[in-house]
Amino acid sequence: MRIAIGGIVHETNTYAVESFGMTGLDSFDVRRGNEIHGYAGTRTFVGGMLAAGDANGDELVPVLHASAQPSGTVEASAYQQMRDELVEGISAALPVDAVVLDTHGAGIVDGIDDLEADLGAAIRLVIGADVPLITTLDLHGSITNEMNEVFDLMLGVYDYPHVDMFERGVEAIDAVPKLLLGDWKPTTHVERLPLLLPTATTDIAPAGDIRQMCLDFQEEPGVLRCAFFHGFPFTDIPQAGASVVVTTHDDPALARSVAQQIASQVWGRREEFRLESLSPEIAISQAVRVASDQGGPVVVNDTADNPGGGSPGDATHVLRALIEAAPERTCFGFVYDPAVAKQATKAGPGATISVSLGGKHDELHGAPLKLDVYVKTLSDGRFVYTSPMLAGLVARYGPMARLQVGGRGGLDILVGSERSQVFDEEVFALHGIDVRDYDLVVLKSSQHFRAGFSELATEIIAADSPGLTTLRVENFEHPRVDGPRWPTDAAADWSVT
Ligand SMILES: [Zn+2]
Repeated sequence: MRIAIGGIVHETNTYAVESFGMTGLDSFDVRRGNEIHGYAGTRTFVGGMLAAGDANGDELVPVLHASAQPSGTVEASAYQQMRDELVEGISAALPVDAVVLDTHGAGIVDGIDDLEADLGAAIRLVIGADVPLITTLDLHGSITNEMNEVFDLMLGVYDYPHVDMFERGVEAIDAVPKLLLGDWKPTTHVERLPLLLPTATTDIAPAGDIRQMCLDFQEEPGVLRCAFFHGFPFTDIPQAGASVVVTTHDDPALARSVAQQIASQVWGRREEFRLESLSPEIAISQAVRVASDQGGPVVVNDTADNPGGGSPGDATHVLRALIEAAPERTCFGFVYDPAVAKQATKAGPGATISVSLGGKHDELHGAPLKLDVYVKTLSDGRFVYTSPMLAGLVARYGPMARLQVGGRGGLDILVGSERSQVFDEEVFALHGIDVRDYDLVVLKSSQHFRAGFSELATEIIAADSPGLTTLRVENFEHPRVDGPRWPTDAAADWSVT
């Protein structure tokens, strides 16, 4: 099979425009042609596509793949440039047996609310109606009927943390001959739910139960794929919300029926998706107690400032509470603050410097912290992830520093030069920190860190605060949604149609 692969991946937090402005081309990691083979051997969607292509003896034609950290709405010119290059590359690669894309599902461009449907339609124009067009998707995608019309097959991850991206990439490539031979005649139903769900790991109920229900239905005759998309609440677009997407073999009624059975479970259990929002002070004091009773490390995640959901990565609410509580044997990873990383690099290890740390993008995420810190270690911010979610992928956080508050041996704070959540312990190890030696490990992430920390943490406690990825999704106005949404609007309703 000759299969063109590529994609444009962005999870858009429309509220982040106030902190960072719109997302330009320079925020994207754009890879062209053989550069895309750099994903080989990684646990990513494209890693899965490349592995399957190799295993099947397919001729993969990598065209263009662009991805960025979640952030504000994408600039129209940036998107159009990437889209046009991808479409022209596919056009130049014709004839192909199929096109397989990596997209997110929650991409928003200035003037285009549905990046994925727009991209799919542009590609469809050049490949025609008969060439299969398949896309992988993130669980946080806002799935639309327009996407369903343009893609023959949409393959979303089941897991949050998204540890199954690789497998979905494999499936996307493996599906091509099934579609071409007619073994699969996919018909998909998208059941949208008026829900703006707070972050919900599938490691536990209720999201874990819904995930299992999807997998069970997938075993039934005629059901090809079945996925629950949590949607992305930090976005104000008409289609914002959760959905259940079911694909059957040529049986639209079955697809609809299965999707609605699962959707009714989700709707019925919606209140279980509300998580207790603990203030940083309470979360830290609970963590100290657990560490003293059961030993460490207890992981506290700064869920309201998760750069993996579009927040700045330099919020100071949790860090300030941590400095005030001053628990022993504690490390914090990490504050996005290129200026402080540069200042520490200039001063060098062993120096004590006065810094104004974090809080530099907006007022929502707290004021900068004025601190005297000891520069313990410097690094280039490069390492290889070991988390089951991203294993094999190289992290590039730019110049980093390990700073200590309260002199040598005090609270360890990592500072980096690129925005990212923490996925695993490697960023700590890079700076000489073995997290197993610590009572408290405090990190910026909502759920993905679980893939790397669940097994080593005594307990995980979420600290919430004001922030662009807070558990309190009701803090955000959604004037553009196409109907009432739970939990922000009591009029939100859903029933089987
Ligand atoms: Zn996601």
